[in-house]
Amino acid sequence: MSGPYTPYTSDTTSALHWHPQAAAIPQATAADPWPVAQVQALFEMPFMALMLHAQTVHHAHWPAGDIELATLLSVKTGGCPENCGYCPQSAAYDTGVQAGKLMDLAEVTRAAQAAKEAGASRFCMGAAWRAPKDRDIALVSAMIAAVKALGLESCATLGMLAPHQAQALSDAGLDYYNHNLDTGPDYYRDVVSTRQYEERLDTLSHVRAAGIRVCCGGIVGMGETPVDRAALLAQLANMQPYPESVPINSLVRVPGTPLADSEPLDPLDFVRVIAVARIVMPQARIRLSAGRQQLGEAVQTLCFMAGANSIFYGDKLLVTGNPEADSDAKLLAKLGLASLKTAA
Ligand code: SF4
Repeated sequence: MSGPYTPYTSDTTSALHWHPQAAAIPQATAADPWPVAQVQALFEMPFMALMLHAQTVHHAHWPAGDIELATLLSVKTGGCPENCGYCPQSAAYDTGVQAGKLMDLAEVTRAAQAAKEAGASRFCMGAAWRAPKDRDIALVSAMIAAVKALGLESCATLGMLAPHQAQALSDAGLDYYNHNLDTGPDYYRDVVSTRQYEERLDTLSHVRAAGIRVCCGGIVGMGETPVDRAALLAQLANMQPYPESVPINSLVRVPGTPLADSEPLDPLDFVRVIAVARIVMPQARIRLSAGRQQLGEAVQTLCFMAGANSIFYGDKLLVTGNPEADSDAKLLAKLGLASLKTAA
């Protein structure tokens, strides 16, 4: 970035006043609250000013020290017909992941109970499907009921949904549905070719129409440009309403996937994504998701400072590694962060 920098003030309308082309940046409108160029300009802020801005927004909207702990269980692993270039569960790639069947209800209930005992407040169930069949929806509905009976929030990520399937999950009491946009619309086709961006947006609108809260984010470090990152966050922030949960993943480069040799992302660029997500979606839970293991404690701490207030908690994330629950608990204790929902 270049140009003189005037110290940040808490007046968020002036956050970009330092930008050399500030006057040319499109203004927000009701239909487009975050033009991509504005989000891009946030990415270009001097790092310290961006952090201060993000922290200011965060503290205006969230209680100090609050963090959400979510646990993710793969209830149906591998053998997926989609070709998402980052995913070890795609049948298109030889990654050593064995395709399994849908877990039975008792097994899922035991895992949810263990997650609750470890301190999680939300239990997410992921299945590697392009789209569930109606009979799958009935089986997952029973899992949702079991998770809810334990007093946990429920979340599912099952692929694309038809409107009647979203409604059935809503009727079963599902609190959140996860369906990520992955990246900005222009880069998407470089990552996945078996389904279109529009199809992702359609599923998200069916979920909303069924009254289920939306969990939707993306992955960074897949070779996308900073403009693609801005476009992803603008896409999310311009949803009306924007998602309640926004998982931000740092690519885990799994051997055998097309993205295994991607250039590693600069950790401070990952922190920038968290900070900008916090600014453009002040009331969303911004979740550190896949790739947290490789960030280390110092970078995770910067992410919490930038506004991350949710983590995936547990030793495994679908099929990739995650920091052990014990080391997470120690880090959160060191930082004075706690899950307010479970602290009571
Ligand atoms: S990300 Fe989901 S849809 Fe894509 S290949 Fe993996 S399991 Fe299938």
